[in-house]
Amino acid sequence: MSTKKIRVAVIGATGSVGGAVLDICRRFPERFEVVALAAKSNEAKLTELASLHRARTLCLTEPRTASFKAEGYNCLTGTEALSLIASDPDIDHIVFASSGVAAIKALQTALREDKDVSLANKESIVVAGPWVMPLVKRTDQLRPVDSEHSAIWQCIREENKAEIQKIWLTASGGPFRNYTREMLEKVTPEEALAHPVWKMGPKITVDSATLMNKGIECIEAMQLFDLPAEKVSALVHPGSQVHGVVLFYDGTMKLLASSPDMRLPAAAALAWPDRVDLVGSGLDFSDPAKWDLSFREIDGSLFPCFGIACKAGEMGGAYPSLLVGADEAAVRAFIDGMIPFTAIPLIIEETLSGYSSVPPASLDEAVSMVGEGEAAAWRLCKNWRYRN
Ligand code: NDP
Ligand code: MG
Repeated sequence: MSTKKIRVAVIGATGSVGGAVLDICRRFPERFEVVALAAKSNEAKLTELASLHRARTLCLTEPRTASFKAEGYNCLTGTEALSLIASDPDIDHIVFASSGVAAIKALQTALREDKDVSLANKESIVVAGPWVMPLVKRTDQLRPVDSEHSAIWQCIREENKAEIQKIWLTASGGPFRNYTREMLEKVTPEEALAHPVWKMGPKITVDSATLMNKGIECIEAMQLFDLPAEKVSALVHPGSQVHGVVLFYDGTMKLLASSPDMRLPAAAALAWPDRVDLVGSGLDFSDPAKWDLSFREIDGSLFPCFGIACKAGEMGGAYPSLLVGADEAAVRAFIDGMIPFTAIPLIIEETLSGYSSVPPASLDEAVSMVGEGEAAAWRLCKNWRYRN
């Protein structure tokens, strides 16, 4: 372990993954020093965290009041301020744990400035992968925090990437994994927001119930590990103990198993190449009732979002951006009671079918396609009850 403390900034500090990251920083003060914290608008929680972690710089990208000031802190506002944090010479490691696409430019800045980056935010890499990935200078510079990608990253860190035959990400299957079509039609937002394994923000929790999350994660894996669509797949694994599987050309498989706790991938990314002492006990082999290594294929007819996302990833161009935007709108409409659960894939598919595969000419265009997909899907959601 290096004797120099790692100076950390957390973007999305007030969220669920931000909490896991900060918990690791708090447990290992001899390793990590929290320097900057950013969120969208939750001033009360941000200042509470700032005091707990003794951060110096705070940022709200969309503060509720025009003047955001907190006594004793360097307070920044606006999305552009995230790039100031990402280029701050007094910060070594930036964690991207915000939701949405607001932090894309800051992610580019952090990589250009040769910072170490821990990445939980999947929207950035799905939308901006072709512009972000070429900026990665070192194999350990961009460290995935999404648990499945962390698993793959840890499985291949000593391997020759050209020898990968296929990877699988695992899915718990969400709360409706054993439902029939008739049951899915009656699902309420409250039921979809109660994930059986992971405690996460609302958007990703609904995405886990539709299996859109797993499809988005397959696109994320294609980008992060530079793998073609046919080498990336996913499996339902109700035990949620194995997070990723890699098959090499000689037939050898590596699986990464751990308890489903976001602090583990967060710690693996922050402390790389070290492992911190979380007193993790792993799987309890003394009692077979406590572990479950069963896997099955995803049922694409019950959970069409998975296939729609994989197809969008394979087609590339504007489709991943449109998918992210359309999903954002459809999930919001479902949570607000405007559309049923089973309409989510229909809205997204109809949105994507209205576009051609012309690739965005620039990162700005790719980001604007997210807004375009969101607006188009939102129009469909608003008209849903008149059509059905
Ligand atoms: P949450 O909804 O719990 O938290 C979102 C965080 O992002 C909050 O801190 C929020 O601030 C901040 N935020 C949202 N918009 C902006 C913005 N425009 N500018 C700055 N900050 C913003 O989400 P999660 O923690 O669940 O997820 C965060 C990301 O990590 C997502 O991309 C998700 O897909 C990914 N992820 C999450 C996992 C999980 O276990 N939760 C697992 C793997 C990946 P505020 O509180 O002020 O709104
Ligand atoms: Mg995940």
